[in-house]
Amino acid sequence: MVNFGYTTLPTHIHDMDKADLGLADSISFEDSSFNLCIACGSCTSTCTAGAFTNFSFRQMCHQIKRGENSQAIAESEKCMLCGKCTLACPRNVNTRNIIRLVRKANQTI
Ligand code: SF4
Ligand code: SF4
Repeated sequence: MVNFGYTTLPTHIHDMDKADLGLADSISFEDSSFNLCIACGSCTSTCTAGAFTNFSFRQMCHQIKRGENSQAIAESEKCMLCGKCTLACPRNVNTRNIIRLVRKANQTI
């Protein structure tokens, strides 16, 4: 077999029927701008915390929408709440408030 220098990712099947979407629903209820995200990545490319860690606001939103809540909550702690992503977002997602709501969920779990 030819070695192309990379391998394919293992199959990742996510059963949305079994996903815990409680956090996604509560964030959508408290701040509907959460639903406007188109995963463009502008927030991640300008992120202050991303320069020092592997934090990605976009990835955190995906985790919430997949019901991977504990991972998302842990990721949210990396944010420095500087607000640069809010200025970069083309969809006016209230990113800092989303982070605040994720952290708030951590206090209620
Ligand atoms: S910049 Fe806004 S729309 Fe783009 S991924 Fe970030 S939150 Fe979503
Ligand atoms: S508020 Fe958080 S997610 Fe947004 S740019 Fe600053 S550190 Fe990154």
